[in-house]
Amino acid sequence: MNSEISFIKSIKFKLAIWYSTLLFIFSIGFVFILNIIAVKYIENQPAFPQPVGMFRRGAIVREITETERLLLHEARMKDLENFRELSFYSIIPIVLLSFVGGYVIADRNLSPLEKLNAEMRRRNVGDLSTSIEFKDRGDEISELMNSFNAMSERIHRTFESQKEFVENVSHEIKTPLAIIQANLDSALEDKKISRDELEDILNESKKSVKTMNHLTEDLLLLSVLQHDIAKEKVSIKDILDSCASDVKKIANGFEININSNGKDVMVYGNSMLLSRAISNILENAVKYSGGRIITVKVGSSDQKDVVISIADDGVGIPKEQRKKIFERFYRLDKGRSRKEGGRGLGLAITSEIIKNHGGSIKVVDSEKGAEFEIRLESA
Ligand code: ADP
Repeated sequence: MNSEISFIKSIKFKLAIWYSTLLFIFSIGFVFILNIIAVKYIENQPAFPQPVGMFRRGAIVREITETERLLLHEARMKDLENFRELSFYSIIPIVLLSFVGGYVIADRNLSPLEKLNAEMRRRNVGDLSTSIEFKDRGDEISELMNSFNAMSERIHRTFESQKEFVENVSHEIKTPLAIIQANLDSALEDKKISRDELEDILNESKKSVKTMNHLTEDLLLLSVLQHDIAKEKVSIKDILDSCASDVKKIANGFEININSNGKDVMVYGNSMLLSRAISNILENAVKYSGGRIITVKVGSSDQKDVVISIADDGVGIPKEQRKKIFERFYRLDKGRSRKEGGRGLGLAITSEIIKNHGGSIKVVDSEKGAEFEIRLESA
């Protein structure tokens, strides 16, 4: 592919040609009109000499002879001829100058585009984060440069998060795979392995396979959540009640109070996914908070929004970590999280589910423990 744009095909050349062609057409028209005016002017001149200069006041005006009239007419026609030639020939340097001027102006204004083109050819994944330096003149080209820089930055961030994601997934898979590998090796090497030992090895391997299965399911769910999902009118009260009764089964001694002020609120959503989102928060409170009481409140900020607050009375979440806990694979206490079977994907899934429903989720300030606030549009 030829990377250099030929001079004749360049926009600079085309613009310069357009300027000069237009100027040529206008000049021809202008000179043509000027010549018509000049002819009319000369034709309307009286056929006798006008008194001029210092003799003007006292000049004696007399009738001119026929020879003088003819000479005068000839001189005027000659002047007219000269004027016509001069005016038509003057168009040539004007058009040439307009071509050069137009080319220089176009070159100056289009130079950022050449820079942009060179950068687009040169750039690869490694240097997407650096912005192209240019003088912002507030015009369309500056706008294009700004858009390119913003797009480049967005792609850079996407690449970075994808890279991080792949690293995290590989890291999560590495441990169960290593366990399975070690188990298989010892089972194969030990020729006198007993039935019980073999069963232990297989059970341990099964646990690792289960971990990888869960991880794959979570990753698939995260991927599905990037698309639109089927929704219908669902009751928040029903979802909360079923989540609370499920979580109570694993919440030894935990008290779960639901306060919905006796009224039921409806949202457009997918009840299975909303249940998953709320269960994640309730289960986390049981696993990580170290508290004893979970309080769930349902209200509405106005007619439009349903606000669900889920609070525990445990250790809470430090302010600086409150956004990060919604990131994929982010865990506050890695050891504890792993022990609880966590992969740091629970709240990322919750957040994606809520986003998919057009809502928002955040950790808000509370007197004690952690308080999650979910906002959804009411149906
Ligand atoms: P996992 O899937 O590993 O359980 P999550 O994404 O659900 O991870 O949660 C991220 C981190 O947030 C957890 O590692 C935990 O340390 C912290 N966390 C979540 N909920 C609470 C809570 N109610 N109290 C204290 N820490 C919490």
